[in-house]
Amino acid sequence: MQSERSFGRFAPSTTGPAHPGTLLAALLCWLDARSRGLAVALRLEDLDRERSKPGFVDAMVRDLAWLGLDWDATQRQSEARARHEAVLESLVRAGRVYACDCSRARIREGGALAPDGSFRYPGHCRARVVASGNWRATPDPLRLRLEPGFVPVLDESGLELSGDAASIFGDPLLRRRDGAYAYHFVSVLDDAALGVVRVVRGRDLAPSTTLQVALQHLLGLPTPVYRHHALFLERSGDKLSKLHGAVSIDALREGLDAEALCGLIASAVGLVPVGTHCRPSELVANFGWARVSTDDVLLSWDPVDGLVARSGPTAST
Ligand SMILES: [Zn+2]
Repeated sequence: MQSERSFGRFAPSTTGPAHPGTLLAALLCWLDARSRGLAVALRLEDLDRERSKPGFVDAMVRDLAWLGLDWDATQRQSEARARHEAVLESLVRAGRVYACDCSRARIREGGALAPDGSFRYPGHCRARVVASGNWRATPDPLRLRLEPGFVPVLDESGLELSGDAASIFGDPLLRRRDGAYAYHFVSVLDDAALGVVRVVRGRDLAPSTTLQVALQHLLGLPTPVYRHHALFLERSGDKLSKLHGAVSIDALREGLDAEALCGLIASAVGLVPVGTHCRPSELVANFGWARVSTDDVLLSWDPVDGLVARSGPTAST
C-alpha cells in the first residue's frame, strides 16, 4: 500500500496535551514540507493503550488546526494494526522473532546505556524463537533478531548518526508487554506506507535514527531524508531539560491569539523578528533551514509575563 504522493509528516504521540515544543516541531515539519511542495500528513501515534486517550487525540487535532496548520492526510496509528501485524507475521516466518520476558532490572543489569536513554538489550532470550502458529498467543514481548552491520546515516543538518544498531541498541522490541506494537517498528512501517520522503523532528530523537534505518534496511524499505532541529528547553531546578508540561496550550490560548503564538514560536528560532504576528502560511515563501537557529531555546512561563524565549546560547542536555 505505497502512497503515490511524497509526504512529510508530523507524528506526535497522543499521551498528553500539546505544549510549545509540540507546536515548534509541528510548525517546522509543516513549513519544511509546504516550502518544497510536498504533501504533509498528521500521524497521531496513539498505540500506548494506557497513556493515549481519545481526548488527547481530539485536542491535538484541534490545537494544531487552531494554530493554522492543515494536513493532506490525518491518520491514527492504531487503525493500521492489520498492516503492522502482517509485517510481523512475515518476520516470524523468516525466523527472526523471539519472545522475551526479561524484566527491566534484568536488561539494565546486562545492558549498556544506549544514546536514546534506553538500555541495550543484552540478548538473553534470543533462543526463544516463536513459530508462525503461536506468536499471537504468546503473552511475552516480542523482539527482532538484528544482525550486526554498520549503518551509514548522516542527517541533513550534518549530524553524524552512523553506527551498528545491533551493538548500540541490541535487538529491538516489535510488540510490547501490553500488546502494542513498538514505536520504532511501526514508525518505519507507517513512513514507508505513506511515502514519507522527509522526516523532520526534534534533536532528542536523533540517536534512534540509526536503529530506524537499520530496520528499514532489514525490511527492504526506503530511507527518508532526516533533519533534526533545536528544542525548546525549560529550567527545572539547576538543570535544563526538554520542555514538557510547564505550560499547557489552554493556558497559552487564554493570553494569546493564534497569530501571536505562531509569531512567538517562529521568533524563538529566528524565523521572524520578535513581536511578529503571523499565520504559518505566511512563513512558507521565505522558509529555509539556513534561517532557523540551531541553538536550543530556553523558554520560561509565568502567568504575568506569559511565555518568554530567553535568547542566546543555552547549555544542551
Ligand atoms: Zn529477554
